Amino acid sequence: MSMVENVDIVSKDESYYTKTIFDKSKTDRVGVQLPPMDVPTYSLDASLLRENDAKLPELSEFDVIRHYTNLSNKNMSIDKNFYPLGSCTMKYNPKITERVAALEGFTSLHPHLLTNNMTDQMQGTLETIDMLEKTLCEVTGMKAFTTTPQAGAHGEMLGVMMIDAYHRSKGNKRKYIIVPDSSHGTNPATAAMVGYEVITIKSDENGAMDFDAFKAKMSDEVACVMLTVPNTLGMYNKKIKDICDLAHSYDAMMYYDGANMNAIMGVAKPGDIGFDVIHINVHKTFATPHGGGGPGSGPVGVNEKLKPFLPDLGIKKVDGKYEIDHRLDQSIGKISPFFGQYGISLRAITYMTSLGGNGMFNASTKAVLNANYIRVRLREYFDVPFDGLCMHECVLSAKTLSKSGVTAMDIAKYLIDFGMHAPTVYFPLIVKEAIMIEPTETENKETLDIFCDRMIEAVKLARKDPEAFKLYPKTWGVSRPDDTLAIKELNVRSRH
Ligand SMILES: *Cc1c(COP(=O)(O)O)cnc(C)c1O
Repeated sequence: MSMVENVDIVSKDESYYTKTIFDKSKTDRVGVQLPPMDVPTYSLDASLLRENDAKLPELSEFDVIRHYTNLSNKNMSIDKNFYPLGSCTMKYNPKITERVAALEGFTSLHPHLLTNNMTDQMQGTLETIDMLEKTLCEVTGMKAFTTTPQAGAHGEMLGVMMIDAYHRSKGNKRKYIIVPDSSHGTNPATAAMVGYEVITIKSDENGAMDFDAFKAKMSDEVACVMLTVPNTLGMYNKKIKDICDLAHSYDAMMYYDGANMNAIMGVAKPGDIGFDVIHINVHKTFATPHGGGGPGSGPVGVNEKLKPFLPDLGIKKVDGKYEIDHRLDQSIGKISPFFGQYGISLRAITYMTSLGGNGMFNASTKAVLNANYIRVRLREYFDVPFDGLCMHECVLSAKTLSKSGVTAMDIAKYLIDFGMHAPTVYFPLIVKEAIMIEPTETENKETLDIFCDRMIEAVKLARKDPEAFKLYPKTWGVSRPDDTLAIKELNVRSRH
């Protein structure tokens, strides 16, 4: 049986695709029995009553369970599918992190204990936040961390706000932020949101920010340089120390976009390299579930220079007890309520402590090995825009193939039929027909081989019959929706 045929028999029945929960409704079928009323009844004022009965489907409990279980099985997820989405680090989320995050002592904590300063009742919680901040300092070589930002992009904004506060505190007049043309869209967006103009530097033939072009633009009007390390092409910039030194000679700050920490955790520390501020996407590197818009968490680390500007809400230890630290002096203020996404912080600290330093080293080196394995197996079949060893992800291109009409998007659509999530396509923007693959360390060689075989098969099929290749996917009911229309005019209502 091929993988396409090997789909669940029940879900092959068309009605499971087309029937809504309302279609399945039968008058007077019930799923829940309410206990007899044991309190007095009251009649509401007629003006408060609805005129018609609510249109709710009537179903047995079993119908409901089966309906939603089948729906959930149509989702692609890391627990079900290989998910090589470049830049997103879709790795296995160990279940122990869920166990810890679900402990009642954490889940039943009332957030307003914090606002009422009832720290006696939250010592354990504060200790876990302190542990996370200290562990992140250890992993990154920074001097202090805050867990309050709720996403990578949110962390970037905080980082740049602190840089802005630093320059203003020194009377520095700064206007620009430098980013390379390979940067993630959130970098220039963040710079603009905080009020800076963006200078974009082209990449050189190795995929690194062109050093001479950078040097020509560097001046005492530059507030900071934002770099992703390794960058979004999966490459490590060999001139990174020179870039830090040059920026610092103008009192500009070095911002480290840590979304790609999965390549270097346990191996190198951004603080030691010379970076002043970093955000970490714990939902990527430190294995907390993500996708579909959240939840995430983007802790930010700083060195001594930026420490005074950290946001309100820190932790300090006084006489062996954790207390809230309202850093009001030069702080940029509040960036989010409470301590951010605490449930995600808990998962991240559980992940890190269960791995330990050696485990983290092992994870990032295996992530790099896996990406290079895929790069080498596929390099004869695709274009390789930047050759040589990559870090935790490899960027290929379907540029040559696209001359026959088959694009990176068609390859992505083809994979869906074989139980795999597509790699990232059309990013980074500087690579035509980009296919960006990040296998992560948690996949075994067998899975990597199935993926590579499928990618090679895709190229062969596409070369043989480009028209026929554009008909994939074939097993999902819907094949090629208009992506743009689906985003602009999202309509997920049933006809009811
Ligand atoms: C994911 C990512 C971001 C943004 O992080 P979010 O948590 O999605 O807001 C920034 N930079 C890079 C390189 C990324 O991969």
